[in-house]
Amino acid sequence: MENCTYSKEELEKRIDIAVKILKKCNNIIAFTGAGISTESGIPDFRGKDGVWKKIDPKTATLQYFNAHPEKYWGRAAGLGSMMPIINEVTENLPNNGHFALAKLIKSGKLKSIITQNVDNLHQKANEMEGVSQIPVVELHGTMLTAHCLKCNEKYLRKDVIQRVRNGENPPTCLKENCDGLLKTDTILFGEQLPQKAIEEAFDFARNCDCVIVLGSSLVVFPAANVPLIAKERGAKFLIINYEPTDMDFLSDLTINGPIGKILPEIVKRIEL
Ligand code: NAD
Repeated sequence: MENCTYSKEELEKRIDIAVKILKKCNNIIAFTGAGISTESGIPDFRGKDGVWKKIDPKTATLQYFNAHPEKYWGRAAGLGSMMPIINEVTENLPNNGHFALAKLIKSGKLKSIITQNVDNLHQKANEMEGVSQIPVVELHGTMLTAHCLKCNEKYLRKDVIQRVRNGENPPTCLKENCDGLLKTDTILFGEQLPQKAIEEAFDFARNCDCVIVLGSSLVVFPAANVPLIAKERGAKFLIINYEPTDMDFLSDLTINGPIGKILPEIVKRIEL
């Protein structure tokens, strides 16, 4: 298999173990990171072609946004020579990894997707597969919207980007008697995570019988507490990721390879 360092036999063995574990579990949660969306054309942050190789992470902090909102929005809109941290994702489509999770929802085994991603691709995949009954918990917000820092009015981010491209930078609230600065609904470094999302995620983690980590370096906290909480409560802990993570030693199984190839194979065999 491409991008997989195991022998065919070793990969088969690991897939087989994953299938055996997942067949026994009925309250599974998925914890996903940027790696599940690279096969949809969205780069991750810390992988081998990750964004942090090209952009200074300091420019993704709340402090940077507060000091230079026009630079933040200018870059998001692709103005000048600055490269957006992640290009606008409204056109990107889910890949086989997202669809495999949607199938696992259909089987009744997967109870929640807890994601660090902001790209809306799980929701798109679930919609395309006709499954909507389980929550997708977004720990780091969404790239779909922005809001006014003064009155909290919501805006579609793509409309705000268009306004910035038309010369309105930094963009401000359009409501009468309000001129508040608009901020993306993605959570920047140094910003609090949405309380409701984090509580919901930890709750799912405390009550699941298995957590599957997909495409995360597991170094961004508090989000990365999700698999730790699950493990502590006795849940099975699986990791599918290109690169080893610092939590591999805690897991019941790791598979280092492409999610879009490995996960669909596992899900197909669970259904047999
Ligand atoms: P990360 O960039 O730290 O780690 C991604 C991991 O996924 C890497 O270890 C990499 O080896 C692995 N990976 C990449 N492609 C893979 C594939 N096809 N198959 C298997 N493994 C693959 O990502 P993170 O842990 O999610 O943390 C980064 C933060 O960046 C998150 O908080 C998230 O909010 C944000 N982010 C989101 C997006 C998105 O929404 N798509 C994209 C970039 C960053």
